[in-house]
Amino acid sequence: MPQDPFAWIDERAAVRRAAGLARGLRPRPAESPLLDLASNDYLGLARHPEVTEAAAAAARAWGAGATGSRLVTGSTELHAELEAALADFCGFESALVLSSGYAANLAVVTALTGHGTLAVSDAANHASLIDGCRLSRARTAVVPHADPDTVAKTLAGHTGGAAVVTDSVFSVDGDAAPLGRLAEVCRAHGAALLVDDAHGLGVLGPGGRGAPSAAGLAGAPDTVATVTLSKSLGSQGGAVLGPARVIDHLVNTARTFIFDTGLAPAATGAALASLRLLRREPRRAARVRAVATALHERLTAAGLDAVRPDAAVVSVRAPSPDAAVRWAAECRAAGLVVGCFRPPSVPDGVSRLRLTARADLTDGQLARAMEVVTGTAPVRG
Ligand code: PMP
Repeated sequence: MPQDPFAWIDERAAVRRAAGLARGLRPRPAESPLLDLASNDYLGLARHPEVTEAAAAAARAWGAGATGSRLVTGSTELHAELEAALADFCGFESALVLSSGYAANLAVVTALTGHGTLAVSDAANHASLIDGCRLSRARTAVVPHADPDTVAKTLAGHTGGAAVVTDSVFSVDGDAAPLGRLAEVCRAHGAALLVDDAHGLGVLGPGGRGAPSAAGLAGAPDTVATVTLSKSLGSQGGAVLGPARVIDHLVNTARTFIFDTGLAPAATGAALASLRLLRREPRRAARVRAVATALHERLTAAGLDAVRPDAAVVSVRAPSPDAAVRWAAECRAAGLVVGCFRPPSVPDGVSRLRLTARADLTDGQLARAMEVVTGTAPVRG
Protein backbone atom coordinates (compact mmCIF):
# COMPACT_ATOMS: atom_id res chain seq x y z
CA MET A 1 0.00 0.00 0.00
CA PRO A 2 1.63 3.34 -0.98
CA GLN A 3 1.68 5.93 1.80
CA ASP A 4 -0.84 8.79 1.77
CA PRO A 5 1.39 11.89 1.34
CA PHE A 6 -1.15 14.09 3.14
CA ALA A 7 -1.96 11.90 6.15
CA TRP A 8 0.00 14.31 8.37
CA ILE A 9 -2.41 17.09 7.40
CA ASP A 10 -5.34 15.23 8.96
CA GLU A 11 -3.34 14.70 12.16
CA ARG A 12 -2.55 18.39 12.41
CA ALA A 13 -6.15 19.35 11.69
CA ALA A 14 -7.30 17.04 14.50
CA VAL A 15 -4.87 18.72 16.92
CA ARG A 16 -6.15 22.16 15.86
CA ARG A 17 -9.75 21.11 16.29
CA ALA A 18 -9.08 19.58 19.70
CA ALA A 19 -7.44 22.83 20.84
CA GLY A 20 -10.38 24.88 19.51
CA LEU A 21 -8.02 26.65 17.09
CA ALA A 22 -9.44 25.49 13.74
CA ARG A 23 -10.31 28.25 11.29
CA GLY A 24 -12.46 28.33 8.22
CA LEU A 25 -13.80 30.79 5.70
CA ARG A 26 -17.15 32.48 6.08
CA PRO A 27 -18.13 34.07 2.74
CA ARG A 28 -20.22 37.19 3.31
CA PRO A 29 -23.12 38.19 1.08
CA ALA A 30 -22.97 41.48 -0.86
CA GLU A 31 -25.58 42.98 1.43
CA SER A 32 -25.27 41.98 5.07
CA PRO A 33 -27.58 42.95 7.92
CA LEU A 34 -24.66 42.70 10.34
CA LEU A 35 -22.87 45.73 11.78
CA ASP A 36 -19.18 45.49 10.84
CA LEU A 37 -16.43 46.38 13.31
CA ALA A 38 -13.94 43.94 11.82
CA SER A 39 -13.08 45.23 8.36
CA ASN A 40 -10.14 47.48 7.52
CA ASP A 41 -12.28 49.86 5.48
CA TYR A 42 -11.41 52.60 8.00
CA LEU A 43 -12.75 55.52 6.01
CA GLY A 44 -15.77 53.73 4.55
CA LEU A 45 -14.47 54.19 1.01
CA ALA A 46 -14.61 50.60 -0.33
CA ARG A 47 -18.22 51.12 -1.42
CA HIS A 48 -18.14 54.86 -2.01
CA PRO A 49 -19.80 55.47 -5.41
CA GLU A 50 -16.92 57.64 -6.63
CA VAL A 51 -14.45 54.86 -5.79
CA THR A 52 -16.42 51.97 -7.26
CA GLU A 53 -17.20 54.03 -10.37
CA ALA A 54 -13.48 54.82 -10.78
CA ALA A 55 -12.74 51.08 -10.53
CA ALA A 56 -15.31 50.30 -13.22
CA ALA A 57 -14.09 53.12 -15.47
CA ALA A 58 -10.47 51.96 -15.11
CA ALA A 59 -11.42 48.39 -16.03
CA ARG A 60 -13.27 49.64 -19.10
CA ALA A 61 -10.40 51.86 -20.21
CA TRP A 62 -7.43 49.62 -19.37
CA GLY A 63 -8.84 46.10 -19.12
CA ALA A 64 -9.70 43.77 -16.25
CA GLY A 65 -6.07 42.81 -15.71
CA ALA A 66 -2.74 44.61 -16.06
CA THR A 67 -1.74 42.01 -18.72
CA GLY A 68 1.86 41.64 -17.61
CA SER A 69 4.54 42.39 -15.07
CA ARG A 70 5.33 46.05 -14.49
CA LEU A 71 8.59 45.89 -16.48
CA VAL A 72 6.90 44.34 -19.52
CA THR A 73 3.31 45.46 -20.31
CA GLY A 74 1.87 45.92 -16.80
CA SER A 75 2.73 49.60 -16.24
CA THR A 76 -0.12 51.81 -17.43
CA GLU A 77 -0.34 55.58 -17.27
CA LEU A 78 -2.83 54.98 -14.45
CA HIS A 79 -0.11 53.27 -12.37
CA ALA A 80 2.20 56.24 -12.99
CA GLU A 81 -0.58 58.62 -11.97
CA LEU A 82 -1.22 56.70 -8.75
CA GLU A 83 2.49 56.61 -7.91
CA ALA A 84 2.79 60.37 -8.38
CA ALA A 85 -0.37 60.98 -6.31
CA LEU A 86 0.78 58.73 -3.45
CA ALA A 87 4.26 60.29 -3.30
CA ASP A 88 2.76 63.77 -3.35
CA PHE A 89 0.06 63.05 -0.74
CA CYS A 90 2.39 61.29 1.71
CA GLY A 91 5.27 63.73 1.14
CA PHE A 92 7.90 61.38 -0.32
CA GLU A 93 10.07 61.90 -3.38
CA SER A 94 8.93 58.79 -5.18
CA ALA A 95 6.54 55.83 -4.97
CA LEU A 96 6.20 52.37 -6.46
CA VAL A 97 2.93 50.41 -6.61
CA LEU A 98 2.95 46.64 -6.09
CA SER A 99 0.17 44.06 -6.04
CA SER A 100 -0.23 44.05 -2.24
CA GLY A 101 1.10 45.53 0.97
CA TYR A 102 2.56 42.10 1.67
CA ALA A 103 4.51 42.21 -1.61
CA ALA A 104 5.63 45.78 -0.85
CA ASN A 105 7.05 44.73 2.52
CA LEU A 106 8.85 41.72 1.05
CA ALA A 107 10.24 44.00 -1.68
CA VAL A 108 11.58 46.63 0.69
CA VAL A 109 13.16 44.35 3.24
CA THR A 110 14.74 41.97 0.74
CA ALA A 111 16.02 44.72 -1.55
CA LEU A 112 17.43 46.93 1.21
CA THR A 113 18.95 44.35 3.54
CA GLY A 114 20.79 41.14 2.77
CA HIS A 115 23.76 38.94 3.51
CA GLY A 116 26.19 40.77 5.83
CA THR A 117 23.68 43.40 6.93
CA LEU A 118 21.64 43.63 10.11
CA ALA A 119 17.85 43.90 10.24
CA VAL A 120 16.49 45.05 13.60
CA SER A 121 12.87 43.99 13.80
CA ASP A 122 10.19 44.81 16.44
CA ALA A 123 8.83 41.67 18.12
CA ALA A 124 5.25 42.67 17.22
CA ASN A 125 5.90 43.31 13.53
CA HIS A 126 3.46 42.12 10.88
CA ALA A 127 4.06 38.70 9.29
CA SER A 128 5.05 40.30 5.98
CA LEU A 129 7.97 42.16 7.60
CA ILE A 130 9.02 38.99 9.43
CA ASP A 131 8.94 37.06 6.16
CA GLY A 132 10.91 39.86 4.47
CA CYS A 133 13.65 39.49 7.09
CA ARG A 134 13.68 35.71 6.63
CA LEU A 135 13.91 35.97 2.85
CA SER A 136 16.56 38.68 2.89
CA ARG A 137 19.24 36.51 4.55
CA ALA A 138 20.19 39.48 6.70
CA ARG A 139 21.13 38.76 10.29
CA THR A 140 17.87 39.58 12.05
CA ALA A 141 17.74 40.82 15.62
CA VAL A 142 14.20 40.68 16.99
CA VAL A 143 13.99 43.38 19.66
CA PRO A 144 11.36 43.83 22.40
CA HIS A 145 8.25 45.69 21.30
CA ALA A 146 8.54 49.50 21.03
CA ASP A 147 11.94 49.65 22.70
CA PRO A 148 14.25 52.22 21.00
CA ASP A 149 16.95 51.83 23.67
CA THR A 150 17.42 48.16 22.80
CA VAL A 151 17.39 49.10 19.11
CA ALA A 152 20.23 51.55 19.83
CA LYS A 153 22.24 48.93 21.77
CA THR A 154 21.74 46.38 19.00
CA LEU A 155 22.92 48.81 16.32
CA ALA A 156 25.89 49.92 18.44
CA GLY A 157 27.34 46.41 18.40
CA HIS A 158 27.23 46.16 14.59
CA THR A 159 29.47 47.37 11.81
CA GLY A 160 28.15 47.38 8.26
CA GLY A 161 24.77 48.11 6.73
CA ALA A 162 21.71 48.05 8.96
CA ALA A 163 17.99 48.72 8.82
CA VAL A 164 15.41 49.10 11.54
CA VAL A 165 12.12 47.52 10.49
CA THR A 166 8.85 48.42 12.20
CA ASP A 167 5.09 48.74 11.79
CA SER A 168 3.93 52.33 12.38
CA VAL A 169 0.75 51.08 14.03
CA PHE A 170 0.82 47.49 15.24
CA SER A 171 -1.93 45.43 13.72
CA VAL A 172 -3.00 43.42 16.76
CA ASP A 173 -3.03 45.99 19.60
CA GLY A 174 -3.35 49.17 17.53
CA ASP A 175 -0.54 50.96 19.39
CA ALA A 176 1.95 53.19 17.55
CA ALA A 177 5.72 52.75 17.22
CA PRO A 178 7.96 55.45 18.72
CA LEU A 179 8.93 56.61 15.21
CA GLY A 180 10.62 59.86 16.29
CA ARG A 181 12.97 58.08 18.71
CA LEU A 182 13.63 55.26 16.24
CA ALA A 183 14.56 57.81 13.56
CA GLU A 184 17.04 59.49 15.94
CA VAL A 185 18.62 56.13 16.77
CA CYS A 186 18.82 55.22 13.07
CA ARG A 187 20.49 58.53 12.23
CA ALA A 188 23.03 58.17 15.02
CA HIS A 189 24.06 54.77 13.64
CA GLY A 190 23.69 55.34 9.89
CA ALA A 191 20.87 52.81 9.68
CA ALA A 192 17.86 52.99 7.37
CA LEU A 193 14.36 53.19 8.87
CA LEU A 194 11.76 51.00 7.14
CA VAL A 195 8.21 51.77 8.30
CA ASP A 196 5.12 49.75 7.41
CA ASP A 197 2.36 52.37 7.49
CA ALA A 198 -0.47 49.99 6.55
CA HIS A 199 -2.64 51.22 9.46
CA GLY A 200 -1.42 54.83 9.45
CA LEU A 201 -2.27 56.00 5.93
CA GLY A 202 -5.65 57.73 5.91
CA VAL A 203 -5.81 57.82 9.70
CA LEU A 204 -2.70 59.52 11.13
CA GLY A 205 -0.92 62.73 10.17
CA PRO A 206 -2.47 65.87 8.70
CA GLY A 207 -5.54 64.84 6.67
CA GLY A 208 -4.48 61.18 6.90
CA ARG A 209 -1.07 61.63 5.27
CA GLY A 210 0.27 58.84 7.43
CA ALA A 211 2.50 58.14 10.43
CA PRO A 212 5.79 59.25 8.80
CA SER A 213 4.18 62.60 8.05
CA ALA A 214 2.89 62.85 11.63
CA ALA A 215 6.42 62.14 12.93
CA GLY A 216 8.10 64.64 10.58
CA LEU A 217 9.78 61.83 8.65
CA ALA A 218 8.02 62.10 5.29
CA GLY A 219 10.63 62.60 2.61
CA ALA A 220 13.56 61.95 4.97
CA PRO A 221 16.56 60.65 2.99
CA ASP A 222 17.03 57.60 5.23
CA THR A 223 13.35 56.63 5.64
CA VAL A 224 11.30 54.30 3.46
CA ALA A 225 7.61 53.62 4.08
CA THR A 226 5.24 50.99 2.77
CA VAL A 227 1.46 51.30 2.61
CA THR A 228 -1.42 49.10 1.64
CA LEU A 229 -4.17 50.34 -0.65
CA SER A 230 -6.56 47.84 0.94
CA LYS A 231 -7.40 49.50 4.26
CA SER A 232 -8.13 53.26 4.33
CA LEU A 233 -8.16 53.51 0.56
CA GLY A 234 -10.74 50.72 0.29
CA SER A 235 -9.03 49.14 -2.72
CA GLN A 236 -6.34 46.49 -3.09
CA GLY A 237 -2.59 46.66 -3.61
CA GLY A 238 0.45 48.14 -1.90
CA ALA A 239 3.13 50.76 -2.40
CA VAL A 240 6.61 51.76 -1.33
CA LEU A 241 7.40 55.43 -0.67
CA GLY A 242 10.92 56.79 -0.43
CA PRO A 243 13.86 58.52 -2.10
CA ALA A 244 13.92 58.16 -5.92
CA ARG A 245 17.20 56.20 -5.78
CA VAL A 246 15.64 53.63 -3.46
CA ILE A 247 12.59 53.28 -5.72
CA ASP A 248 14.84 52.83 -8.76
CA HIS A 249 16.77 50.15 -6.86
CA LEU A 250 13.49 48.32 -6.14
CA VAL A 251 12.45 48.50 -9.81
CA ASN A 252 15.72 46.80 -10.70
CA THR A 253 16.08 44.28 -7.89
CA ALA A 254 12.89 43.58 -5.89
CA ARG A 255 11.64 40.15 -6.85
CA THR A 256 8.05 40.69 -5.68
CA PHE A 257 7.94 43.69 -8.02
CA ILE A 258 9.78 42.24 -11.02
CA PHE A 259 8.20 38.79 -11.13
CA ASP A 260 4.63 39.76 -10.25
CA THR A 261 1.82 40.97 -12.52
CA GLY A 262 1.08 44.67 -12.22
CA LEU A 263 -1.80 45.82 -10.02
CA ALA A 264 -5.21 45.45 -11.74
CA PRO A 265 -6.37 48.72 -13.32
CA ALA A 266 -9.64 48.66 -11.32
CA ALA A 267 -7.73 48.58 -8.02
CA THR A 268 -5.35 51.27 -9.29
CA GLY A 269 -8.18 53.58 -10.34
CA ALA A 270 -10.09 52.97 -7.08
CA ALA A 271 -7.04 53.90 -4.97
CA LEU A 272 -6.58 57.09 -6.99
CA ALA A 273 -10.23 58.04 -6.46
CA SER A 274 -9.89 57.40 -2.70
CA LEU A 275 -6.81 59.63 -2.51
CA ARG A 276 -8.73 62.39 -4.28
CA LEU A 277 -11.59 61.98 -1.78
CA LEU A 278 -9.20 62.07 1.14
CA ARG A 279 -7.70 65.34 -0.10
CA ARG A 280 -11.17 66.83 -0.53
CA GLU A 281 -12.54 65.51 2.78
CA PRO A 282 -9.69 65.48 5.32
CA ARG A 283 -12.23 65.28 8.17
CA ARG A 284 -12.62 61.55 7.43
CA ALA A 285 -9.24 60.91 9.09
CA ALA A 286 -10.19 62.94 12.17
CA ARG A 287 -13.53 61.15 12.39
CA VAL A 288 -12.02 57.66 12.41
CA ARG A 289 -9.66 58.68 15.21
CA ALA A 290 -12.56 60.12 17.20
CA VAL A 291 -14.57 56.92 16.73
CA ALA A 292 -11.61 54.82 17.94
CA THR A 293 -11.23 57.01 21.03
CA ALA A 294 -14.96 56.76 21.75
CA LEU A 295 -14.83 52.95 21.44
CA HIS A 296 -11.93 52.78 23.87
CA GLU A 297 -13.61 55.09 26.39
CA ARG A 298 -16.80 53.06 26.42
CA LEU A 299 -14.98 49.73 26.71
CA THR A 300 -12.85 50.88 29.64
CA ALA A 301 -15.86 52.52 31.29
CA ALA A 302 -17.50 49.06 31.21
CA GLY A 303 -14.47 47.62 33.02
CA LEU A 304 -12.94 45.91 29.99
CA ASP A 305 -9.20 45.73 29.38
CA ALA A 306 -8.81 47.69 26.12
CA VAL A 307 -5.56 49.10 24.73
CA ARG A 308 -5.61 52.88 24.16
CA PRO A 309 -5.75 53.17 20.35
CA ASP A 310 -3.23 55.29 18.46
CA ALA A 311 -5.12 54.84 15.16
CA ALA A 312 -8.25 52.90 14.11
CA VAL A 313 -7.64 49.50 15.75
CA VAL A 314 -9.01 48.90 19.25
CA SER A 315 -7.91 45.71 20.99
CA VAL A 316 -9.81 44.21 23.96
CA ARG A 317 -8.31 41.39 25.98
CA ALA A 318 -10.13 38.13 26.59
CA PRO A 319 -9.30 35.71 29.42
CA SER A 320 -8.63 32.73 27.12
CA PRO A 321 -8.74 31.67 23.44
CA ASP A 322 -12.04 29.84 24.09
CA ALA A 323 -13.55 32.87 25.79
CA ALA A 324 -12.47 35.09 22.87
CA VAL A 325 -14.06 32.74 20.34
CA ARG A 326 -17.29 32.53 22.36
CA TRP A 327 -17.35 36.31 22.84
CA ALA A 328 -16.95 36.94 19.10
CA ALA A 329 -19.66 34.35 18.34
CA GLU A 330 -22.08 36.00 20.79
CA CYS A 331 -21.41 39.37 19.21
CA ARG A 332 -22.18 37.90 15.79
CA ALA A 333 -25.38 36.29 17.07
CA ALA A 334 -26.38 39.77 18.29
CA GLY A 335 -25.67 41.26 14.84
CA LEU A 336 -22.12 42.58 15.27
CA VAL A 337 -19.00 41.30 13.47
CA VAL A 338 -15.73 41.76 15.38
CA GLY A 339 -12.26 40.38 14.84
CA CYS A 340 -10.98 37.60 17.10
CA PHE A 341 -7.24 37.11 17.55
CA ARG A 342 -5.85 34.06 19.28
CA PRO A 343 -2.75 31.90 19.07
CA PRO A 344 -0.94 31.39 16.74
CA SER A 345 -1.77 34.82 15.22
CA VAL A 346 -0.81 36.38 18.55
CA PRO A 347 2.64 35.15 19.52
CA ASP A 348 2.30 36.53 23.07
CA GLY A 349 -0.52 34.03 23.63
CA VAL A 350 -2.99 36.73 24.70
CA SER A 351 -6.33 36.36 22.94
CA ARG A 352 -8.28 39.48 22.09
CA LEU A 353 -11.23 40.87 20.27
CA ARG A 354 -10.13 43.39 17.70
CA LEU A 355 -12.54 46.17 16.81
CA THR A 356 -11.87 48.58 13.99
CA ALA A 357 -13.23 52.09 13.99
CA ARG A 358 -14.71 53.45 10.78
CA ALA A 359 -15.28 57.06 9.80
CA ASP A 360 -18.73 56.22 8.45
CA LEU A 361 -20.11 54.67 11.67
CA THR A 362 -23.01 56.70 13.03
CA ASP A 363 -23.28 57.52 16.72
CA GLY A 364 -26.27 55.16 16.89
CA GLN A 365 -24.25 52.27 15.39
CA LEU A 366 -21.41 53.01 17.78
CA ALA A 367 -23.76 52.88 20.77
CA ARG A 368 -25.33 49.62 19.54
CA ALA A 369 -21.90 48.04 18.96
CA MET A 370 -20.75 48.92 22.46
CA GLU A 371 -23.96 47.59 23.98
CA VAL A 372 -23.32 44.24 22.28
CA VAL A 373 -19.60 43.99 23.10
CA THR A 374 -20.00 44.95 26.76
CA GLY A 375 -23.22 42.94 27.17
CA THR A 376 -21.57 39.72 25.95
CA ALA A 377 -18.20 40.23 27.69
CA PRO A 378 -16.83 37.28 29.67
CA VAL A 379 -15.09 39.44 32.33
CA ARG A 380 -16.05 42.63 34.02
CA GLY A 381 -14.00 44.74 36.35
N1 PMP B 1 1.24 45.25 6.98
C1 PMP B 1 0.33 45.29 7.96
C2 PMP B 1 0.69 45.91 9.27
C3 PMP B 1 -0.94 44.73 7.75
O1 PMP B 1 -1.86 44.75 8.74
C4 PMP B 1 -1.24 44.15 6.50
C5 PMP B 1 -2.61 43.60 6.17
N2 PMP B 1 -3.15 42.72 7.05
C6 PMP B 1 -0.25 44.12 5.52
C7 PMP B 1 0.97 44.69 5.80
C8 PMP B 1 -0.48 43.47 4.20
O2 PMP B 1 -1.15 44.31 3.33
P1 PMP B 1 -1.99 43.67 2.12
O3 PMP B 1 -3.24 43.14 2.73
O4 PMP B 1 -2.19 44.81 1.18
O5 PMP B 1 -1.15 42.59 1.53
